[in-house]
Amino acid sequence: MEKILNYINGTLTEPVNGNFFNNINPAEGKPYGLIPDSNKEDVAQATAAAKHTFAAWSTTPARNRSSILIKIAKLIERDLDKLALAESIDQGKPVTLAKSLDIPRAAANIRFYATAILHESSEAHFTDNEAINYTQHTPIGVVGCISPWNLPLYLFTWKIAPALAVGCTVVAKPSEITPMTAYLFSKLCIEAGLPAGVLNIVHGVGAKAGQAIIEHPEIKAISFTGGTATGKIIAATAGPMFKKLSLELGGKNPNIIFADCDFEKAVTTSIQSSFSNQGEICLCGSRIFVERPLYEKFVAAFKVRTEALVMGDPLDEKTNLGAIASETHLNKILSYIELAKQEGGTIIQGGNQVKLTGRCADGYFLEPTIITGLSHTCRTNQEEIFGPVVTIMPFDTEEEVLQYANSTTYGLAATIWTENLKRAHRVAAEVKSGIVWVNCWLFRDLRTPFGGMKQSGIGREGGFEALKFFTDEKNVCIKF
Ligand code: NAD
Repeated sequence: MEKILNYINGTLTEPVNGNFFNNINPAEGKPYGLIPDSNKEDVAQATAAAKHTFAAWSTTPARNRSSILIKIAKLIERDLDKLALAESIDQGKPVTLAKSLDIPRAAANIRFYATAILHESSEAHFTDNEAINYTQHTPIGVVGCISPWNLPLYLFTWKIAPALAVGCTVVAKPSEITPMTAYLFSKLCIEAGLPAGVLNIVHGVGAKAGQAIIEHPEIKAISFTGGTATGKIIAATAGPMFKKLSLELGGKNPNIIFADCDFEKAVTTSIQSSFSNQGEICLCGSRIFVERPLYEKFVAAFKVRTEALVMGDPLDEKTNLGAIASETHLNKILSYIELAKQEGGTIIQGGNQVKLTGRCADGYFLEPTIITGLSHTCRTNQEEIFGPVVTIMPFDTEEEVLQYANSTTYGLAATIWTENLKRAHRVAAEVKSGIVWVNCWLFRDLRTPFGGMKQSGIGREGGFEALKFFTDEKNVCIKF
């Protein structure tokens, strides 16, 4: 049983209260390690260390901060196989996905911000011949970064990399469902020579360790990715403390398929956007809308491709769908499949929990599931399920599909499939989502700002925006 430890002031350490809880391997349904059950005392120690180191780290030349971060990125690349295996065991995702997506992206996140900080600039405005106004950004201080379980190291590094690059010191908490890669990451930070206290990782449950980070008065900004319900609690706590907030929350993303699409590409990519990572990606297109002339053909082809997906042991390289991340989450998804039936939906594919044999006999496996026959207004089509479950609905006009697409409280991502350029622009302009992909999905340029509209979040991550988020901004006017 591997015992995960907190990383505080440069040292791997047990929680102050000495308490641990089980780390479950979702493919086996069994504990395989222990996680610190940290509380506000650990957060206080981590914050004190971060505060102490802030003066030195924030005045370390950007090129030196950059070179330490590059070292960390190289160590991630060196340990690609080990980290991918750890992430697959911790979260249940296919090891091939961890190897091709999660871990390379974690290294890319760090490289991106390690180099971005070398190219940061600020604005100056000359006011006629009378004055110059310039904008100055300075690191805001100690910041809190809290990440979810679905893309563990990918999202953890996405938050901490810009904060560290800009000169902030960090108290971070990965999800208690998937803490292992953040723990291995803390060892890489020590190996790379990251000064003590610059990054502190406190493990534990959200309501205790997470909430203590949000409440700590010395933590000046919070970057959070997780569910919308948790985002509301965080906003309610941090808002009155006037902390800077970036909230990346849930989604219920439309995947809009027009009859003039490249059919083969639309079907192939829709399989990925529906079921990658067991549908546990905030950007997955869980509501598929198909223009009526193509509807029957699309549903038939989509069903055949879904049937062909291999669900099984995440460590098997042939596996397309691994385990659901936790038993609680599996039960939540199953309850939504029941709800869909009650709401009059037809399960045309999947819908059942699966019992595998051997090592994975007690794991949390669920068939990829396709539901038809539902209205866009029902709860199944309004609430985030966050699993391998999609609904498919027909539409007749652009106006109609835009109304369907925009009918939820979420606005994270949308995908549009059409070969008609004018329509692509028209629909992209009207769909209320922070990210719109046309004829592709999950294509990311890290310079592009990332974030949601409506209840999918506030603030933007990615690009230079993220560097700015972790700073105080000042505008100075000098009169000649
Ligand atoms: P969650 O909200 O339950 O937990 C996220 C993190 O917040 C965890 O580390 C958790 O311990 C912590 N937390 C929980 N309660 C807290 C509190 N009161 N104070 C501080 N921290 C607290 O979310 P999850 O189940 O881990 O992740 C799934 C959700 O994340 C889905 O809704 C998904 O759409 C969303 N998500 C969004 C994005 C995005 O970029 N918008 C990306 C990935 C996942």
